[in-house]
Order: sequence, then C-alpha cells, then structure tokens
Amino acid sequence: MEDIVSLCKRRGFVFQASEIYGGLAGFWDYGPLGVEIVNRIKAEWWKAMVSENDNIYGVDGAIIQNPKLWEASGHVAGFTDPLVDCKNCGARHRADHLAGTDSTDLAELKVLLKDKVCPACGKKSLTEPRTYNMMMKTWVGPIEDDSSVAYLRPETAGSIFTNYENVRETMRAKLPFGVAQIGKAFRNEISPRDFIFRVRELEQMEMQYFIHPENQDQAYEEWREFAWKFLTERLGIDKQNLQWHEHAENERAHYAAAAHDIYFNFPQGFKELWGTHNRTDYDLSNHQRVSGKDLQYFNDATRERFLPYVIESSVGVGRMFLAVMTDAYHEEDINGDKRVVLKLKPELAPYRAAVSPLLKNKPELVQKAQEVYKTLKNEFGNVMWDDNGNIGKRYRRQDEIGTPYCVVVDFDTLEDDTVTIRNRDTTKQERIKITDLEAKLC
Ligand code: ATP
Repeated sequence: MEDIVSLCKRRGFVFQASEIYGGLAGFWDYGPLGVEIVNRIKAEWWKAMVSENDNIYGVDGAIIQNPKLWEASGHVAGFTDPLVDCKNCGARHRADHLAGTDSTDLAELKVLLKDKVCPACGKKSLTEPRTYNMMMKTWVGPIEDDSSVAYLRPETAGSIFTNYENVRETMRAKLPFGVAQIGKAFRNEISPRDFIFRVRELEQMEMQYFIHPENQDQAYEEWREFAWKFLTERLGIDKQNLQWHEHAENERAHYAAAAHDIYFNFPQGFKELWGTHNRTDYDLSNHQRVSGKDLQYFNDATRERFLPYVIESSVGVGRMFLAVMTDAYHEEDINGDKRVVLKLKPELAPYRAAVSPLLKNKPELVQKAQEVYKTLKNEFGNVMWDDNGNIGKRYRRQDEIGTPYCVVVDFDTLEDDTVTIRNRDTTKQERIKITDLEAKLC
C-alpha cells in the first residue's frame, strides 16, 4: 500500500484533500493523472451499462433530497455501523473490524471484543459496542433547526427509486428495465482508512434493475456475471485477484434478500469491491408507503398489478481505481535495476504514448519530434511530450505512469521517416514508419 500511495502522490494521481492545511481524514483529491483514469473507468462503465443496453436508462440526481426519502429507505433509523470508544484515549473504532468479523450483531461483537485492547493506546478500556448513524447532516435554508435538517445522500440508489416512476413513464419503459447513476455519496465513516479504500466522500456507480419477482434468480445471476466480466474483460483485471463472497445472513444489509460481493485482492487483503444485491420490493414498498404514491407496475398483457423487485449492482469508483492501480502495479528487476511499471490496459492509461526527441539540444530532432507529437496529439488527445533527462530515465518515468508506448525521433528519422517505438510491458523497441504510428497506437 505504501508503494502505491507514494506513487499516487509522487506522480499526480491522488493528493490528500486540503493537504496544505494538514488534510482531512477520509477525503482525497484526484490529480491530473488520477482523474484521467477515473474518467475512463466511469466512461467504460456507462458504456457497458447504459449505452450498450436497450433497457437501462441513466439519471443524475441531486445530492440532497427530501429527508423523507432516507426515512423511507431505512437510512435514518438503520444506516449504522457498530463502534467502540476507548475510555482512556477517546479513539473510536469499528467494532466489527476490531473483532475481525463481518458480523454486525452487537451481542456477538461484545463477546468477540471481550479481551481486546484499544489499537491506538494499547489499553484494555473499550466501551461495549453500539451503533452510530453514518449519514452526514446539513441544513437547507437560512435557519438551522430540526425542521431544516437534510442529509448528504449516503448512496446514489435513493434518487433512482424516487425517479422509478418518472423514468418508466417518460421512457415508456417495460419491465425488466434498469436505472443507472454515477455520483457522489457521503458516509461519516468512523475510521476512514486504507488510503482511498474507505473514505467519507465517495463516488458510486449504481444500477437498479426493476423486474417481475418471478425473474429474481435469473436477473441476479445476470448482474453478477456483468460485474465479473466488466472487471476482467473491460478493465483487464487478473482473475486471480478476484473472489466471490456471499453474504451470510448477519452480514446482509437490512434490505437484501441475497447479496454477493466481488472481493479484490487489495494491498490490505481481499476486500469488498462490487456488490450485487437482491433488494426485493423493500425500497418501492417503503417509498409507496411513506410518499402515499402508487408505485405498482401494471402489465397490460396480463392485467397484473404488482411492485417490481430490484436487483442492485453497486460499486465505488475510488475502490475500482485502487483495484486497477493495485492490479497494474509491478516491480521488476531489469539488469539489477528496479523498475516500477503500471501495466494498465492501454485504454485506461493516462497517456496513450509519449513522444521524445533523442536529444533535446538538437533543433532538427526537436522539430521533427514536435511534428510527430502534434499529429498524434491531434488524433488521440492524451499524448505526452517528454524531453526531460536521458532516454532511459524517460522510459522509467513513463513506465511508472503506465504509458504503453514511447516514441523516439532520432537521427535515422531525419533520413527515412522512421521512429523507434518502445513497448512498456516487453521493454522491446522496434522501428516503424511514422505513417504507421497511428495504426500501431490504436
Ligand atoms: P463496506 O462493507 O466496505 O462498508 P458497504 O457494504 O457498506 O461497504 P455498499 O453500501 O454496498 O457498501 O456500497 C456499494 C459500494 O460502494 C461498495 O461495494 C464499495 O465499492 C463502495 N463503498 C461503500 N462505502 C465506501 C467507502 N466508505 N469508501 C469507498 N467506497 C465505498
């Protein structure tokens, strides 16, 4: 983890939020290279989820909604984590993490934590586990009183449910259909940690698939498969780094009838990356009850009226970014030299190629290299000019940020319009014609 954190900072992938003021626990900023990868991950998900499906519609809901939404969803009453406080030093810890369990059952946790000491001060002075609401509160309007309390959404799913009927009607959608959203969510996590793995401001990519209850098993399997294929085929993540984890009953969220997570082999171990949940009609029935609006679906052909079930596919963008970085990060020994290389899928890499003149003090090389650079930049956009240091150093720098190809203009280029192109993964160079470069980088 330290290596990845240090690379992320050193090379402009991720910075601590408000770093010059000492940062703020659980908040991170993406830098110039990080935001490129994050944008590509989101674009790929949107493409696979929305653009390539006939029956998935996108929305972009507000972060702050009517607080009744979160009462209906169960978040006001039940969005809780078990925690313990240290009576000696005041530190607060997640009880389930400290007990090394996925269970959130308070009685069970009490037994497991009986002999535990506070990880911060080492004293055996922990309180009994209790629950704590993780929603972030704010006030809407000029008066800060109970009547103006609102919440920053703890998940994007909320405005998908409240827009279910709007989407169905405006898109004339028939079951099964899904509504997808990418957006920020906020959770006042007790112990944000493991870099961007557990944060307080996160971004989610979620899709709720509305179905007839009798299709729940089939739809559930389809969306589990979607998640697995997206990670392995679209992002190129190694299958060895992924595992299925089925939630036991005491681990499942209050709404879920079944839940399977994909765990990724993060630097701190296999942990949750992507959840597929069967939420049944929990959400629509609660929103129907609290709002008083009829949310039933009417099937014209069968004259049947019912509340759809929902299969949810939910993943955090930051966790996916961390998984992509971890999967891509390699240290290799090249003739006694350590090289750090990010073996990112070329489509995800911040830069598709870097272009250099062999020597930066030879104007004829620089001019020719600039021509090549401009042509490629026009074509691909994310192409980098790099003339700093010697060629070996440039290669190492580009390897570290995952640039798949380095193109070098040398004296032969001036004679025959060929350049060398070096492959990040094999470190092999070949000579090709400038006119073949675009096809090679595609
Ligand atoms: P965890 O058990 O890790 O707290 P969760 O089961 O509460 O996660 P969900 O509510 O199912 O997570 O959220 C869906 C996805 O959002 C998770 O699979 C994860 O990728 C991401 N996510 C949830 N909480 C956080 C967080 N605090 N920081 C970063 N990503 C998160």
